[in-house]
Amino acid sequence: MSNHQQCALCLERPADKTGSHIIPHFLLKSMVNERGKDICLKTGVFTEPFIGREVLPEKIEEIMGRELSDEDLLKNKSHYTQDYFLCTTCEKRFGEIETYYSTYGVNLNSTEGNLTTTKAQSDLSCLFWYSVLWRASVTRLLNFKLDPNHEEIVRRVLNANLNLSIETTKQNIKDKSTLFGLQYAILIKEGNENPTNTLTMLHPTFTFPYTFIINNYIILFFLSHPQSQINESKDLVTFNNPVDLNPAYQYNEKITLINKTVWDQFIADSIEFLTIQRIALAGNEINDILNEINLKVSNDIKLKIANEILIEFMSNNDPIGVCYSNEKLRNISLHVIAKYQSNIE
Ligand SMILES: [Zn+2]
Repeated sequence: MSNHQQCALCLERPADKTGSHIIPHFLLKSMVNERGKDICLKTGVFTEPFIGREVLPEKIEEIMGRELSDEDLLKNKSHYTQDYFLCTTCEKRFGEIETYYSTYGVNLNSTEGNLTTTKAQSDLSCLFWYSVLWRASVTRLLNFKLDPNHEEIVRRVLNANLNLSIETTKQNIKDKSTLFGLQYAILIKEGNENPTNTLTMLHPTFTFPYTFIINNYIILFFLSHPQSQINESKDLVTFNNPVDLNPAYQYNEKITLINKTVWDQFIADSIEFLTIQRIALAGNEINDILNEINLKVSNDIKLKIANEILIEFMSNNDPIGVCYSNEKLRNISLHVIAKYQSNIE
């Protein structure tokens, strides 16, 4: 008997695999990255950096504003991996489709921003992108969750088609109708100038389509919606553009180029959305801290302290790797509270 739970994909074997990638490494590689070294920021509500082993000290200084402490090193585990949700075999099945897509799909480091197709076969690329979405949902990455019915539809399609050899996977999906109901679009900013290099965001409220921003790409996922509905999707109007859906009947994965102004506006709106979420979450944390400390002050003063902490947190100019960290919020809180405490005594 194994102590592990069932694998979330096959529902048969024990989930014995550690360090499973939720978002494949090659998709994250270009984030805040220099010459192939790994640094990525989890830019959810709070940010936490992950620093790879080969990163130069100067770069660490720039991101963190200091050397890594022992505590940093202990916590320094990629946010995009998780233990014990897959079995070893299913992890290998994902590995096969990732190797295929990283070879033929979009090249995140590419400066060619005017390509409208990739070299990937669009049915295989569909399995790849849905495998990323599904893993994010199962592990609740960045607080994201698919509708449970959608999650199960995607699981079945992935489980039925993914194989340990890409050739067999190709055979499995010869009949494209197995992918019926799973469509997606991949958007890129026209010209690919000033790519969005630090944002990974699974939009928590967009469900039609589910919207995933990663680096210089936006992926829109349409599940079980007829074409007529897709054309009328309110979220798509944002892009002011008909999008090319995959899997396509043509061989290759299609890319939709988005006008620069429209793209920048969408990214700005998304960041604003995250900021609002961050303010709300930081507000809750501050309340918890104030309650724990049990300050003997009136509610008015408490509110004043909370506001002061929040303003200082949202406007701090620390390096990008630490400015919106939980640790930063805690430190600011203690420092502001200490100031009030000395005023009271
Ligand atoms: Zn499995």
